[in-house]
Amino acid sequence: MELTRSGGETAAGPEDWFTGTVHIDGIRTPDDRSAIGCAHVRFAPGARTAWHRHPRGQTLYVTDGIGYVATRGGEVQEIRPGDVVYIEPDEEHWHGATPGRFMAHVALHEADEHGQVVTWLEHVTDEDYDQA
Ligand code: MN
Repeated sequence: MELTRSGGETAAGPEDWFTGTVHIDGIRTPDDRSAIGCAHVRFAPGARTAWHRHPRGQTLYVTDGIGYVATRGGEVQEIRPGDVVYIEPDEEHWHGATPGRFMAHVALHEADEHGQVVTWLEHVTDEDYDQA
């Protein structure tokens, strides 16, 4: 067993991968023992990920606020605390907060044989975001 006490520093979501203010608390990074990766991610109002895909899919568990999730070509859907979203492997998508509320979720994903959990694509335009 290994107990990691709360500590360290919350990481800012890099501008290349996010629009707006995003904070990330890592829970686990894939390693030799397990390919599972997990993080708690908080989005300020209006903040969202860039478009991206996960080689082994992703599960999101909304813990706070009101957010959006959308897949390429699909409608923007509202998500709320307790909602669980499963993203298929390589399904292009984005997730983030609504314009007026924070949103936080736990994100669970699995590394592929190259150790990758995500491939980042272009930023989500205001036009795409405003479709909500
Ligand atoms: Mn994702």
